[in-house]
Amino acid sequence: GPFLIGDSMTAGYGNGPDILHDCTIAVDRGEIAVIVGPNGAGKSTGMKAVFGMLDMRKGHVRLDGEDITGLSPQDRVAKGMGFVPQTSNIFTSMTVEENLEMGAFIRRDDFRDTMAQVYDLFPILKEKRNQAAGELSGGQRQQVAVGRALMTQPKVLMLDEPTAGVSPIVMDELFDRIIEVARTGIPILMVEQNARQALEIADKGYVLVQGANAFTGTGKELLADP
Ligand code: ADP
Ligand code: ADP
Repeated sequence: GPFLIGDSMTAGYGNGPDILHDCTIAVDRGEIAVIVGPNGAGKSTGMKAVFGMLDMRKGHVRLDGEDITGLSPQDRVAKGMGFVPQTSNIFTSMTVEENLEMGAFIRRDDFRDTMAQVYDLFPILKEKRNQAAGELSGGQRQQVAVGRALMTQPKVLMLDEPTAGVSPIVMDELFDRIIEVARTGIPILMVEQNARQALEIADKGYVLVQGANAFTGTGKELLADP
């Protein structure tokens, strides 16, 4: 099966109604998979379910064949899941480098090597490593957030609207960086509002409507038949 899959997920918040209805999202090795759909369709909820932030009422999450449905988000990170939530969680008063160091909370001996790899992928972060993250532009802050997730040496990276609120030029730049991350061998599962542009770089796309799978196909298929 796929490297990471939220399989037939039914889930909601607290005691509230089901938001996801038998919803499946997945990403395979070497892939960029993109989740699109109207506002309120359940895209973020799907990501949260896969990351273990919601109680699953039905369905399973599997990572590299292992059923991780019952694990906490923290345990999923330890298993190799990276997650960049929609709302930026970077520390604006800390420097770029301090933010990256926070990502390596499992302080591996080789965390300096990982940081060098992050700086290779995001040269602007190297340039601004001693600046407060709060002084950076929106697109640069997103790079900090992605870089920090990479510091945990994830085997798969989930991104919830990484290009939210940035200009088209910055969006293109962020997508280029995300493609570079995927080329290092880290599959990407991401939610995107900028559906057309995101599907252009996607190997696989999911259209969600009202918490359910409305259409699944290759990025090209979805672009041809939106
Ligand atoms: P999308 O990401 O596709 O815009 P969301 O997953 O954010 O959609 O939202 C799907 C539905 O879940 C919406 O009806 C929204 O109001 C509801 N929802 C999202 N977050 C919460 C929450 N924390 N508590 C209760 N309902 C929520
Ligand atoms: P999205 O772009 O994913 O639809 P929203 O702007 O709807 O995001 O939601 C922003 C935040 O508010 C998220 O953390 C979401 O979980 C929360 N939220 C959304 N809808 C509800 C809701 N009905 N009740 C409680 N929290 C909600």
